[in-house]
Amino acid sequence: MIHFVSLGPGDPELITLKALRTLREADYIYTPVPVSRKGRHASKAAEMMLSLGIREEQIQLYDLPMSKDRDGALEAYEIVAREACEKQKAEPNARIAIVAEGDCGFYSSSAYIGEHIEQEGFTTEQICGVPAFIACNGRLGGQLVQLEEQCTVIPGEATREEWDRAWQSRHTIVVMKGSLCEAEIKSAVAQHSDRKWHYFEFVGMPKEYITSSTDEILQREFPYFSIIISKRR
Ligand code: SAH
Repeated sequence: MIHFVSLGPGDPELITLKALRTLREADYIYTPVPVSRKGRHASKAAEMMLSLGIREEQIQLYDLPMSKDRDGALEAYEIVAREACEKQKAEPNARIAIVAEGDCGFYSSSAYIGEHIEQEGFTTEQICGVPAFIACNGRLGGQLVQLEEQCTVIPGEATREEWDRAWQSRHTIVVMKGSLCEAEIKSAVAQHSDRKWHYFEFVGMPKEYITSSTDEILQREFPYFSIIISKRR
């Protein structure tokens, strides 16, 4: 049994007790280190686990290429899945965890890793967590949706028709992966004054940035770790 452990959005206090217990009991915790053209970045996941008392020797870092071209990341997921399976074959009693940001069942890398692991004949268990968009709304206060309202989540990319339908609808719109759709969001912010716009970056982390000012949103360069929430006025 290999556990997918949700870390929550970044604030160490937003991990669940079950996830923390599973990490404490794990012998090997596979943890991504983002690698971009600028080089290897600090692993936010590893920093957070260390702050919760997880020991360095439990953490097994793996490189995760960050680029629009998904091939590097897909290869990294296959490699980490293979490593976890080999470890489990070599040490059948070892407790293995693979971490994911936010919730591991919501637009998560765990999907790809899990497919490979299951192909190898191992079972997996998911430990759910707080997804980033829920943490964003928590910072804002109030209801993301209430009563008969509906919510649409767009993962950074959508067709022209889907974007138009979203902005014209009465739905609350949550957009993930802001860097993939910065131009679309800015044009919608400029055109749809019938909507409220809220922008979130690195929520729950030291460099958190949140604004509900359309001017500030229009000036901002959106990193990948950004979320936009738009509600009808
Ligand atoms: N499984 C994650 C989503 C992974 S997809 C979850 O449950 O939230 C990756 C996207 O999540 C990023 O592009 C960004 O839009 C969002 N995200 C994750 N953590 C975030 C954070 N701390 N602050 C802002 N956005 C975050």
